[in-house]
Amino acid sequence: MKLSTIQHTLAALDVRPAKSLGQNFLHDQNLARWIVAQLELSPGDHLVEIGPGLGALTEFALPGCQSATLIDKDARLVEFLREHFASERVEIVHGDAAQFEVRTLFPRAPVKVLGNLPYYISSQILFRFTDEPSPAERLVFTLQKELAERMSAQPATKDYGILTLIIGRRWRVKLLRTLPASVFLPAPKVESAVILLTRREAGEVPDCDGEFFNAIVKQGFSQRRKQLRKMLAATLHETSADWQAVAKTIDAPETARGEELSLAQWIALANLLRPVEAIAQRVHEEIFDVVDEADQVTGIATRHEVHARNLRHRAVHIFVCNGAGELFLQKRSRWKDRHPGVWDSSAAGHVESGCGYDETAAREVREELGVTISVAWLGKIPASERTGFEFVHVYRAQHDGPFRLPPAEIETGAFFSLPLIAEWVAARPQDFASGFLECLPLLAEQN
Ligand code: SAM
Repeated sequence: MKLSTIQHTLAALDVRPAKSLGQNFLHDQNLARWIVAQLELSPGDHLVEIGPGLGALTEFALPGCQSATLIDKDARLVEFLREHFASERVEIVHGDAAQFEVRTLFPRAPVKVLGNLPYYISSQILFRFTDEPSPAERLVFTLQKELAERMSAQPATKDYGILTLIIGRRWRVKLLRTLPASVFLPAPKVESAVILLTRREAGEVPDCDGEFFNAIVKQGFSQRRKQLRKMLAATLHETSADWQAVAKTIDAPETARGEELSLAQWIALANLLRPVEAIAQRVHEEIFDVVDEADQVTGIATRHEVHARNLRHRAVHIFVCNGAGELFLQKRSRWKDRHPGVWDSSAAGHVESGCGYDETAAREVREELGVTISVAWLGKIPASERTGFEFVHVYRAQHDGPFRLPPAEIETGAFFSLPLIAEWVAARPQDFASGFLECLPLLAEQN
């Protein structure tokens, strides 16, 4: 959008840019085109634009995507946007992006997020769209330069800290370029920078307990100048860890401060203090009952054998709903041997040889969600190719969370409304484990 067009449009709308809403409108068209190009939109993508304002980026982004959600807090601009970008494939939301319900975007994947962000609330918006579970796969934001530098900082620099590590563990962050204040109307008092966030690949950094990682990073940096030995004293005590030995194992000096540890060393530290159980070996040792077409036991076999030879065996799925009737879904770890990285029932697992369905259901909830609750039987699903040759007994339970998810098995999880799940399943069945899709109608019938 040209400077004169912005001035003219603001005058026609009788809008004076509000500092309290971080309103600085971009008037350099080449830059707008360049920022949008960094998002690498494909024709099937869903675009989310935060703070579209008068549409400086929107006009270049919309032609490149399938559909879009535009979110702005200023009602006057939302009205203008609704007139200018009216289309069936564009939803214009009047609201606060820091409160936006990102779960509603899962059925729209792949989702790419764009925004010349309002600076007063940038970090809240950033966390809203990058915290797990996030439907986004690529994000391009213009931010205050200092914030961009903190996110992309290297160890042992003044900018390196909590934000760098908490976002950097799951996202690759690249500071693409800085922008002078003069490209905006009105010119902000600070310099800006454009950053790109892309999701880290499986295995790019080791897995760890994410919540624990965040907690020790916050502890470690709560007083920057103090040594970790002191800052982590309580956690070291709780976990009976000896700092001298810990420092040696993660190859850090005993006198290290938080800023001296790289991301890899912080993850190693989290894993030393709270190890993530390796599931790969355990699962192959499990022994299951093999059953016939009437679900009668005919023998036993290892987990590997039943799957390799498509032998009928037994499993349970548990649907845990909260008080609002939303269903908790878990996203399976990317390291699972079966259905890695897809969404599944709240808890699910095989019935081990000699065990019953009911006791296994109670155990799976305990092991996968970390809570002890009673489960009610919902029904059963016959063994078929779609269930992986499992007879599945399905249960329902009620709990509002939060849950303690084992990171080696479950990447993340969240409650979703049943209508949203139905929309998501219809749009993207590939996002779900096939066994879950077989069991879901039993829950839907009940509601
Ligand atoms: N994208 C436009 C551009 O580049 O010219 C406008 C960018 S301006 C820096 C920030 C925009 O965010 C404004 O349109 C403002 O109304 C909007 N905004 C402010 N607070 C917001 C919030 N909490 N949620 C969503 N949008 C917000």
